[in-house]
Amino acid sequence: MSYVIPPPTQPSVPVQGQSDTFPVHRIYCVGRNYEDHAKEMGHSGREAPFFFMKPADAVLVVAAGQTAVMPYPTLTTNLHHEIELVVAIGVGGSRIKAADAHHHIYGYAVGLDMTRRDLQNDMKKLGRPWSISKGFDHSAPIGAITPARQVPNIAQAAIYVQVNGQDRQRSVVSKMIWNIAETIEQLSIAWTLQPGDLIFTGTPEGVGAVARGDQLQGGIDGLQPISVRVD
Ligand code: MN
Repeated sequence: MSYVIPPPTQPSVPVQGQSDTFPVHRIYCVGRNYEDHAKEMGHSGREAPFFFMKPADAVLVVAAGQTAVMPYPTLTTNLHHEIELVVAIGVGGSRIKAADAHHHIYGYAVGLDMTRRDLQNDMKKLGRPWSISKGFDHSAPIGAITPARQVPNIAQAAIYVQVNGQDRQRSVVSKMIWNIAETIEQLSIAWTLQPGDLIFTGTPEGVGAVARGDQLQGGIDGLQPISVRVD
């Protein structure tokens, strides 16, 4: 088998403690999955989960102990950070029951769902797709994946992001409206999950803008923290 043009490079994410990497198939994202974030966005906080996607090659790998550089995207003057727990799917499936969801999880990582908030607000008003506000190049900074067995208490973990050393978002994963297992159950009704899928599980309150030169430090208990500089 050969191709008429060079095939695209397989996007992948490092895995803690080993040289083999995790190939990315799709990136799913959950909207408004922490009550206080839903409220800050003008919603009641209780609604069925909804999903959007980023392209697999939107990942911006943040290597352990290093600072990744994210180019400030075009078309926006209001680039927002959303710190999120990322679930990496190792075993695919459809109509996965919440009780079985843990069998499908390979591991977890710290991610940022970077958002062109001005464009997202425009698209909401116009009833247009969010893609341009969520799925742009480098919009998914992510640290190394830690295998699930090494983080048994992920559901209770603290999650935070600082900008230039100041707290912007700080919460706990247990405040998710739809927990990890319920999210997998709902998502796998809409799409057949595949090995290599990443799920950004939503962000807590405190989202805000970053500017060129800002330094973001994000973390979740038990996972590799991430450092990103906006350039
Ligand atoms: Mn998000």
